[in-house]
Amino acid sequence: MGMVRTRLPRTPALDAHQASWLEKSVLLLVVILPLAATAAAVVFLWNRWVTPLDLAIFGVMYVITAMGIGVGYHRMLTHRSFDAVPWVRYVFLAMGTMALQGPAVEWAATHVKHHAKSDKEGDPHSPLEGFWHAHVGWLFRDRLIKSGVWAKPFENDKVAHAIDRQFWIYAILGFVLPGVLGLAIGHSWLAFWTGVLWGGLVRVALGHHVTWSVNSVCHTFGRRDFESNDESRNEWVVGILGLGEGWHNNHHAFPKAAYHGMRWWQIDLNAYVIRAMKRLGLVKNVWMPKAEDMEARRVRKPSSGLGAPAATLGLARK
Ligand SMILES: [Zn+2]
Ligand SMILES: [Zn+2]
Repeated sequence: MGMVRTRLPRTPALDAHQASWLEKSVLLLVVILPLAATAAAVVFLWNRWVTPLDLAIFGVMYVITAMGIGVGYHRMLTHRSFDAVPWVRYVFLAMGTMALQGPAVEWAATHVKHHAKSDKEGDPHSPLEGFWHAHVGWLFRDRLIKSGVWAKPFENDKVAHAIDRQFWIYAILGFVLPGVLGLAIGHSWLAFWTGVLWGGLVRVALGHHVTWSVNSVCHTFGRRDFESNDESRNEWVVGILGLGEGWHNNHHAFPKAAYHGMRWWQIDLNAYVIRAMKRLGLVKNVWMPKAEDMEARRVRKPSSGLGAPAATLGLARK
């Protein structure tokens, strides 16, 4: 039916500490600067001022940092989908920190809250409060609310807290590393700076928007394969770009599942890496639901119609 669901009311930020103009300005810079650099990079690309080395560094840095978010921040830290030996935990959380999406514990706390309140009042980033709010707007309000009780599950996580104390080291390394790679392989300072541009700034922009698309696009567009108590959806473009994170309806149905791709064709690079590490003995207790539990939750006729948030975009809902 052409039902238009009312939007969620704006969450009053009562317990919030008032974000200072400095916090907001830094955040604005972190959002705008990579985007502006990407616009410049597109001009470079158009004029063919780009080398295969730049693009290779971009690709490698993207996979490293997106995997840090997907495998490290999300599946390992937030959902405890598997246990890893300490140095593997450290490396994946460091890789995630380079993605410039905030300190690990704060990211995980925000995400626990998202699962607890998904598409209900209190969800930090539901598209029911507006698509752009879910994509980026929430950062300037809910992101700046201190994590409070939501950070409790991570209180005793020594590795995560160690990484958070070193946040700026890895945040800066995310820009220096691609530059050094450019310099070492390209043997010129120009290659250093174009390495910083592609492997640093443009890569951060893509990583940001893919992660944010999991919050906005994957709660609005795509297929629902499982019954879940929210608007989560499987969206294949975000699925592939997010190294498996876009199979988001699967994920909301079984949040602790280590593998988000649950059909052979649901490409999930993060899952392949977890499986490889399991074979190598680096991770154990890799959690997956039982086949019969998955069958019981499966939607008989998966709908590919637009979700309720689409109504907030002014799109008709089938
Ligand atoms: Zn979600
Ligand atoms: Zn999750």
